[in-house]
Amino acid sequence: MILVVGGAGYIGSRVVEVLVKKNEVVVLDNLSTGFENAVDPQTIFIKGDIGNEGDLEAVFSNYPIHAVMHFAANSLVGESVANPLKYYENNVSATLKLLKVMLKYSVKNFIFSSTAAIYGFPDVNMIHEESKVEPINPYGRSKLMVENILADFASAYDLRYVVLRYFNAAGASESGRIGEMHDPETHLIPIILQHLLGQREQISVFGDDYDTPDGTCIRDYIHVTDLAYAHAAALNSLLTGQNKTATYNLGNGLGYSVKEVIDTCEKVTGRKAKVVITDRRAGDPARLVASSEKIRVALGWKAERNLEQIVSSAWKWHKKTDE
Ligand code: UDP
Repeated sequence: MILVVGGAGYIGSRVVEVLVKKNEVVVLDNLSTGFENAVDPQTIFIKGDIGNEGDLEAVFSNYPIHAVMHFAANSLVGESVANPLKYYENNVSATLKLLKVMLKYSVKNFIFSSTAAIYGFPDVNMIHEESKVEPINPYGRSKLMVENILADFASAYDLRYVVLRYFNAAGASESGRIGEMHDPETHLIPIILQHLLGQREQISVFGDDYDTPDGTCIRDYIHVTDLAYAHAAALNSLLTGQNKTATYNLGNGLGYSVKEVIDTCEKVTGRKAKVVITDRRAGDPARLVASSEKIRVALGWKAERNLEQIVSSAWKWHKKTDE
């Protein structure tokens, strides 16, 4: 049985849709940012918090869990700067509680959601797993702290883990159940699509004076379905013994500028956006693009869906939720 904590969230719920095809799945989620209706009905859903040892005990003592996937985290950079306590508590201290109970029940397989934010302002074109890690905000630091904790736990307690460092997750599930929705929304693609649906007056482009071909920031957008298949492959690598510990980037290997993303959204939707250029957003690197060669070579995974597919799946979902 696989325990997915944060399985009601955007990425977690998409991973659950893939896992239930071959596994029994328990989802533990406090629904602080997730949605119960995003959870596949074939799972056992438990509303609870990994920061609460009682909730964890209830899961591990009742179900024969043999692997844990951990998506339960706060992930807004700006909020982490304003409220670091929340990030260290929910992302680090709660994760320690989860690991402690796992070890108590001898559950040794762990998949951890990490982030491109741990690379800070990278000085390379393509970011490799061995590139310098130097996060520049509490969110990125909270994720790096857990990565370091996992390495220590692997040496001391024989924990087996895979860390997956996501670049820009986007797009919606083909099932139509899961799409990207945050409150408040800060992410580029949902913001553009909300604007094109008439829910926002305009789109602000945060700076067009970066050192990139069109002056806007470049990111590596990856379809949430591609992310989900990477998790299934990572889990398999632990359960078959192929991996004891591993860290992989998950991206497309392709960078798109903010302007290119807006163009793609206009093309896919057939609608015209009203765009204003504003000041840069603090803490935005000019370019973040992953090399995902390591996981391709090790596990045979690569992103299969391009930006147009990301946007058209997201558009279908946003239109449906607007009805
Ligand atoms: N962005 C923008 N306007 C917005 C939201 C985002 O110009 O309303 C830019 C942002 O500066 C970044 C890119 O879009 O360069 C992706 O931002 P997002 O917040 O989606 O993801 P991040 O890269 O910060 O994780």
